[in-house]
Amino acid sequence: MNLILLGGPGAGKGTQAKRLVKLLGVPQISTGDILRAAVQSGSELGKRVASFMIEGKLVPDEVIIGVVKARLTEADCRNGFILDGFPRTTAQGEALEGLLAEMDLSLDSVVYLDVEVDTLVERVVGRRSCPKCGEIYHLTFNPPPSSDTCSCGANGLVQRADDNETTVRDRLDAYHEATAPLIDFYEKREKLSRIVDSGLTQDEIFTRVREAIGR
Ligand code: AMP
Repeated sequence: MNLILLGGPGAGKGTQAKRLVKLLGVPQISTGDILRAAVQSGSELGKRVASFMIEGKLVPDEVIIGVVKARLTEADCRNGFILDGFPRTTAQGEALEGLLAEMDLSLDSVVYLDVEVDTLVERVVGRRSCPKCGEIYHLTFNPPPSSDTCSCGANGLVQRADDNETTVRDRLDAYHEATAPLIDFYEKREKLSRIVDSGLTQDEIFTRVREAIGR
């Protein structure tokens, strides 16, 4: 199954993607995670994108399209994939269509997690993750077992450098200007399912995601 999760920063794409990985047995392709790993490793890609990320701006389309193209041709994507954080511009959406056509693949579904702006900010600022297993917590809404320990036993939960109130405003601007037009883009292609998250639990959202994709 070939899926896209669409939504602003903090909409819950990563959390739902991790659940879908378990359900469907296909990989999560988080472009944010790929870029953060590149920055940490100090690679050429990392050097090119670091300043965009720290400022909450989108990295150039040609850079991210190249990254996704390389990732989609890896063997583990043969039975499907869950795109989390890509596409983020109409140009990326169009490039993805071209890539999939070249690979003789098509999209099954785009799930749009629709969350109010104030809730997004609150979620991003309180978000912490485990550096070992990747589990995502929220200090108030989904707290870890103890303030700094993951359920996997690892210590030292981390906050992303761009998960602060100033940068999140810039990321939201980028989302509204560049990414929101993709809602219409996929609606026109009859691929979009909208899930309005007005205080639903993660379990309730996952139930709706499953309904949306028919699994
Ligand atoms: P995320 O983890 O999805 O919130 O992404 C973190 C940051 O990585 C974003 O604020 C952008 O700087 C960059 N990024 C991730 N995915 C994309 C994309 N598809 N297009 C452009 N920039 C991206």
